Amino acid sequence: MEQCPICLNKCKSNMWSRDRKYLDCPQCGKYTADAKIEMLIGRRRLTQRQKANISGWLAENEGYEITSENLDNFLIKLKLPSFIDRADSLLCHIAARSDFAGASIQFDKSFISRAWCVNEEELQAVTDYLITTKRIFVIIESQIWLNKYKVLANGWIRLEELSKTNSKSSQGFVAMCFSDDLKSLYEEAIAPAISDAGYLPHKVDLREHNDKIDDEIIAQIRRSKFVVADFTRHRGGVYFEAGFAKGLGLEVFWLCEKDDLKNLHFDIRQYYFIEWTNDNKEELKRRLTLRIEGLFGKGPEKS
Ligand SMILES: [Zn+2]
Repeated sequence: MEQCPICLNKCKSNMWSRDRKYLDCPQCGKYTADAKIEMLIGRRRLTQRQKANISGWLAENEGYEITSENLDNFLIKLKLPSFIDRADSLLCHIAARSDFAGASIQFDKSFISRAWCVNEEELQAVTDYLITTKRIFVIIESQIWLNKYKVLANGWIRLEELSKTNSKSSQGFVAMCFSDDLKSLYEEAIAPAISDAGYLPHKVDLREHNDKIDDEIIAQIRRSKFVVADFTRHRGGVYFEAGFAKGLGLEVFWLCEKDDLKNLHFDIRQYYFIEWTNDNKEELKRRLTLRIEGLFGKGPEKS
């Protein structure tokens, strides 16, 4: 047993190879990391929130490998999802453990990471929201780890709403500016990321799509399981398509070139954006695949 370098809980570990190790943490889940992970984390003096975000990410992306590179470029920059997204994530986690509607699930440390919380007090706030919306019921004991959680009818209905949107579709609609110099963004990053996750990328014909929203676009969005929207250059069409998809309850993956982030319309800045630069398309591809798989699991199109 050793200490998880992220959440400091006791965890199992194994050397995977000379420079990589495998960790199995009750809070962060299973992940692999550079053998010198303690030193890498220690040097960076991460805040409690940064560690909680990394723990949340690891819990949602089983088997993730931490390297010094993605630690700096990605993990320590993770943004906290919205409060409601965190509550949904916790609800989904409890439901996944329930063998039947009404089953009582005992608290464990994974609840903290699934709700992206820094500690048990914060988890309490997320839990309180689920209780007041009558999505869960908690049998409170003298110690939190003895508490039992039960998903209520409202919770199951909420989960059905979350999953109903085109659950059988394997299409990912791509909304972006289709100028020539952004072609490689689609060809080298977005399309292969969607394919790697096991879904079919769909983009509208370049010639026809000039910020004109027609019935074909509307129909294709309706048919899709999710939308990948790249806001670089801030085309009105992209804003419309992402908003339309949100209105339908579809998941939207928000992308923007790093230097262009500052120009995002104020109203959408709170979303979790995957930022990219011209020389990190490979990283963008990988992150997008992970996010898609993290939310929907591997799609049916994977051979
Ligand atoms: Zn941990």
